[in-house]
Amino acid sequence: MIEGLNELVGLSQLDSQLAVLEAERAGIPEKRAASAQERETCETRLAAASEIVAEAELAQRRCETDAQDKEALLAKLESQQHQVKTNEAYSALLAEMEQAREAISRAETGVLEAMEAIESAGNELAALEEQIRAVTERLDSEEKAWDERESELDSEITSLRQRREEQLGALDGELAARYERVASRRSPAVAVITGEICLGCRVGIPPQSFIEILTGEALVSCNHCHRILIHRDQLTAAKA
Ligand SMILES: [Zn+2]
Repeated sequence: MIEGLNELVGLSQLDSQLAVLEAERAGIPEKRAASAQERETCETRLAAASEIVAEAELAQRRCETDAQDKEALLAKLESQQHQVKTNEAYSALLAEMEQAREAISRAETGVLEAMEAIESAGNELAALEEQIRAVTERLDSEEKAWDERESELDSEITSLRQRREEQLGALDGELAARYERVASRRSPAVAVITGEICLGCRVGIPPQSFIEILTGEALVSCNHCHRILIHRDQLTAAKA
């Protein structure tokens, strides 16, 4: 009978548990990066929406200035009406005045259009801000949860690693070394079998090896995946 089979299985289960926790722990930085990316996307969208409002405001100011310039031009032209000497010059002046009036009208239309654009872009900006507030709130709480989970995992992993060292140290030295060799390549390192098949890699176990496993005469490894093979009945026997 080989000693320490139950301990070997226990160690293997502990390592599997440790692997799950370590994988979860390793995934947290990626989640944080995705969160930062989402925040950046929000900032970009917010900046773009603010830019549209700013452009519409600029357009309004331009049209207002344009209207004022053309009003001043019209006033100047009107003041020249009594100074013209010929019919030809008078017609030309009237045409110029008409052009100025049309330009004023276009500029005033531009002001109205810009005001409408400001209102609609402003509404969109407000809706986006509302949406981003909700996203930010969600990200804040997710990040807080990850921070908490991370320190939880850190302490669980530390304590499991400590238990691992203790359990490994309690094993026979040769057995511990053999376990470590397999565990560095396979997880779990031990396959608890019930029939003539390795439950780690699903490859069949040669009859001679299977007999050795059943009788517990030798510690057998799978020819294919090198996991340590232990029959369930051996565990029950060891426990009893
Ligand atoms: Zn195998």
